[in-house]
Amino acid sequence: MKYVYFFGAGKAEGNGTMKELLGGKGAGLAEMTRIGLPVPAGFTITTECCDYYLKHDGKYPASLRAEVKKNLTRLERVTKKKLGDAKDPLLVSVRSGSARSMPGMMETILNLGLNSKSVEALARNTKNDRFAWDAYRRFVQMYSSVVIGLPKEELEEKLRVMKTRRGVKDDTQVPAEGWRELVGEYKAHFKKRTSKDFPEDPEEQLWGAIGAVFRSWNAEKAVTYRRVERITGLLGTAVNVVQMVFGNIGENSGTGVCFTRDPSTGEKVFYGDFLINAQGEDVVAGIRTPMHLTEMARLMPKVYNQLEKVRVLLEKHYRDMQDMEFTVEEGKLYMLQTRAGKRTPTATFKIAVDMAKEGLITKVEAIERIKSEDIERLFYPVIDPSVPKPELTKRKLATGINAVPGAAVGKAVFSAEEAELMAAKGEKVILVRRETSPEDVGGMFVAQGIVTATGGKTSHAAVVARGWGKCCIVGCEQLDIDYATKTASANGRKIREGDWMTLDGNEGAVYEGEVKLSTPKLPDAFSILMKWADGVRRLGVRTNADTPHDAKKAREMGAEGIGLVRTEHMFFKDFEQPEKSVDRQLAIQEMIVADSPEARRKALAKLLPYQRRDFIGIFKEMDGYPVTIRLLDPPLHEFVPHEREKQQELADKIGVDVEVVARRVEQLHESNPMLGHRGCRLCITYPEILEMQVQAIIEAAVECKKSGIKVFPEIMHPLVMDRKELKILADATHRVAGEIIRKAGVKLEYSVGTMIEVPRAAILGGEIAEVAEFFSFGTNDLTQMGMGLSRDDAGRFLPDYVDEKKAGIFPNDPFQSLDVHGVGQLMLWCIERGRATRPKLKIGICGEHGGESASVKFCHQAGLDYVSASPFLVPIARLAAAQAVIEERAARKRGKKKGGKKR
Ligand code: PEP
Ligand code: MG
Repeated sequence: MKYVYFFGAGKAEGNGTMKELLGGKGAGLAEMTRIGLPVPAGFTITTECCDYYLKHDGKYPASLRAEVKKNLTRLERVTKKKLGDAKDPLLVSVRSGSARSMPGMMETILNLGLNSKSVEALARNTKNDRFAWDAYRRFVQMYSSVVIGLPKEELEEKLRVMKTRRGVKDDTQVPAEGWRELVGEYKAHFKKRTSKDFPEDPEEQLWGAIGAVFRSWNAEKAVTYRRVERITGLLGTAVNVVQMVFGNIGENSGTGVCFTRDPSTGEKVFYGDFLINAQGEDVVAGIRTPMHLTEMARLMPKVYNQLEKVRVLLEKHYRDMQDMEFTVEEGKLYMLQTRAGKRTPTATFKIAVDMAKEGLITKVEAIERIKSEDIERLFYPVIDPSVPKPELTKRKLATGINAVPGAAVGKAVFSAEEAELMAAKGEKVILVRRETSPEDVGGMFVAQGIVTATGGKTSHAAVVARGWGKCCIVGCEQLDIDYATKTASANGRKIREGDWMTLDGNEGAVYEGEVKLSTPKLPDAFSILMKWADGVRRLGVRTNADTPHDAKKAREMGAEGIGLVRTEHMFFKDFEQPEKSVDRQLAIQEMIVADSPEARRKALAKLLPYQRRDFIGIFKEMDGYPVTIRLLDPPLHEFVPHEREKQQELADKIGVDVEVVARRVEQLHESNPMLGHRGCRLCITYPEILEMQVQAIIEAAVECKKSGIKVFPEIMHPLVMDRKELKILADATHRVAGEIIRKAGVKLEYSVGTMIEVPRAAILGGEIAEVAEFFSFGTNDLTQMGMGLSRDDAGRFLPDYVDEKKAGIFPNDPFQSLDVHGVGQLMLWCIERGRATRPKLKIGICGEHGGESASVKFCHQAGLDYVSASPFLVPIARLAAAQAVIEERAARKRGKKKGGKKR
């Protein structure tokens, strides 16, 4: 097996498609070498080797030593230098890099190959004593902590003491002698701690570094990052051994990170950070605040122009926005990394749409590139525009760099651990740090937002937060953060731990206290891309909405009708006049307590006008689109009071004895209410409920129709389990509706159908379709009953069924993502039989799954007519429905190709 891939001098054994094997960095270096970019030479040890190493207790495959040796010799030939040489030494960096980007989570060792002889040679050749000894001390420091595991703090402390002794503040002021002295101290410290001399042999150094990088795959921070990012199924990290280039030789050198487009807005502008006279990690670590690329263009116009050319070339080559790392060594540009750049949701849409318009990608590719999370994150909050400007000015603490947009409110915390502790208690927190490091990733994840005093837009905090779409402000230098007292001060004011604060990631502003947030306006690129998706999809997308307000929102989101109005919500609340909600509640309670059909009818008559008014509101909003209205579904006990006090109140209001109420409540008690007297079973027992609801629906529809609104009511019976049961209900529905329509003298189309929620109904779909004009899968209940899992309680143990590290029985929570393997089969069975009976049977889904990407794709494959999702999930369903078509076409194409070959 081949474990090592070489790149250099314009040739590479690997290429850009080999991410799984070479990691993103290794594949990128190989590809950049192939297309002729200035990349330092090196070789990549594969992720398969990491997998072997981790599975064999830190042993390497037998062939590896010879392979590394061969590639090292080749590297020495290409660079015309020798590792550890006393005359012209080759120095290398040893870097991690897995198939998925894990910024800063794994280890890197720089300047490897330095020892007491080669450091002198480096000093001579660069004519820069200070630079050579600084490089050496960095190497000894990194090697001691990363490879050997000596505590970082002890080494940092020695550096601090040396600076104090020499009376200097910044590292840049330390003379060569200071660094030489520090190397001596580090080596002595190394000897004391390990009882061994610091390794002089460069090959020994190299093997130590390779093992450390492999082991860093399982470091706690890396494991946490993979958990929160849900990165699974990777073999491990690759190791990249690359010739060192130095950005810290002097003022004509530097290092930077740049993006081919703005990762915050998506704008087509060259965007990035650059630090003069600095080494690689200084930019990412965010310790010094870097300059913008425009500044670099002024200082180093030639290199900048070259970089600009690389930008254009790489974006064309990869057909995506790239995030690149580069170093300038004495005026010469080197590219160290390129990868698809992390970006905000707004930028995701803008870049996809712009690239399609520029002809760089197709519209279909643009649609494929959007993930459902990108849509969800578009709705992240901003500072409410109604908050008066003077109030904001008054509250403003400091301004930093707007690294990730959005806004966040929470209580200030000053450590990642505290953030996790407080979040576990349900508190909203803002993580306030001087800078973040990969160890902080758990706390960063649970925080509402992050603010750091140092760093640029490509610092660790910014990169990680951007990947999550989490509001983040960096380089907020006015903020004086004191970890000891857990305070942050600016402008003469102080925030203590637990104090409320607000971040505005759009402006980079930090405010004292809790500022009101609201949902932002959607970017233009969003509507453009959604229109493209609509042009591709076949599946209809409706919404679940119970109020005119939600119906309006859903129409704005692109819903083409309502797939579920849960009428019981109208019994609880008057959305137009909330103060009148109590009238409805009383009426329904009176109906439930009633002891005769007459008394029940009287109570129901009070509800009729409310329901009718609500339906009119909904029909108006859905002018021209179908509206599926479900009759009463929950068990009646949900509507009545259970505490004595409240029962007394009700008894007084409706004029009965409290005992009557108490007895009725007791009668309604069920051991398994979810399997009890609910759904259409209520109307089988109390047909008066059906009569009132159908009357309200049809009268509302007639009134709308008369005023020119196009209405298509679909009356839906829930929880049906039998053909005869539905027949009774459908007959009653037609009788009531027919009479009203006849009397009104209008022509009104309406239909009567059923939900498919009970497995028996799914199995008997063929019979039930004799009566039902449409089916709507209620997959919340169908999952509950199909799997025998209580939708209200299964959360207590279901995570164990989903957790890969525990039982790992299901890939996802079946209440979130449809159990295609089981419940999905019930649906397919039902669809086939239903359509065999009634070929034009309209079929939809209105369970929560209608707004989940994978479930929507299944519904497309199953041949449903539409999915129905809550208003904010409608765009996710539209996108998934389009992606389903694209995937289907691709599968067909693949199938054809295969078929072609066989013949
Ligand atoms: C369902 O069961 O899937 C459904 C939509 O109904 P509810 O969630 O109201 O029970
Ligand atoms: Mg249901």
